[in-house]
Amino acid sequence: MNIVEIFESHPIVATVTVFASTGLAAELIVTAIKYLRSKTRRRRVHEVLFFNELGEICYKEHQSQGTQSAPKTFECKNKHCSLRQLEKITMLIDEAQYSIDICIYTFTCTDLFLAINRALDRGVSIRMISDHEMAYSSKSKVLKLANLGVPLRGPFTTKSMMHHKFCVIDGVARVQEIMGLKKCKWPRPYESVLISGSVNWTYNGFVGNFENCTITSDEILACQFQEEFNRMWKAFLVKE
Ligand SMILES: [Zn+2]
Repeated sequence: MNIVEIFESHPIVATVTVFASTGLAAELIVTAIKYLRSKTRRRRVHEVLFFNELGEICYKEHQSQGTQSAPKTFECKNKHCSLRQLEKITMLIDEAQYSIDICIYTFTCTDLFLAINRALDRGVSIRMISDHEMAYSSKSKVLKLANLGVPLRGPFTTKSMMHHKFCVIDGVARVQEIMGLKKCKWPRPYESVLISGSVNWTYNGFVGNFENCTITSDEILACQFQEEFNRMWKAFLVKE
């Protein structure tokens, strides 16, 4: 028996070695989980997007380059670029893991419509609340999404306007509800995001008007908006 074997056969050393290797393995697992979570969790956002006359300077240039949502707007040197601001909203929708709850007065923007379609294809649960007149306007994407199976509700039996312009992505209460329905205890990492401001989801709103739109990962604000969405969702249920 060499010195290493004598050393390893010692009961105290063997016990310490087992504990040390177990602890090391546990630490490695925790580190791996943290790494995977950091890779899959979306980055947190806290930004106000302003849409103004400075954002339109490069608009014609982008149009001549191709579709309005072309990724080349990322290279745009105009820091006020309206289309790049719009792309930031599109990206947030593209990163949705579980749910998108949209409460919008007017929705005609094709880029956001396509992003919602991509989310539908990924299996994201989408709900919409909209205005009784604007939902049925000729260019509205709201009815198009409803025809694709997205549930739609609103204060359709009253004359009150549904004038909100907000969207909650992966709100905690909604994700928990979806997890409950799926009988799943362990959701993938997700980050709640609130999109809210004066801007309607229209090209006139994004490119043409003076508007603002806050995008934020603030949990408290996202929860409050999710709560109001859920309250309205129940209130607008048409009883047959
Ligand atoms: Zn630009």
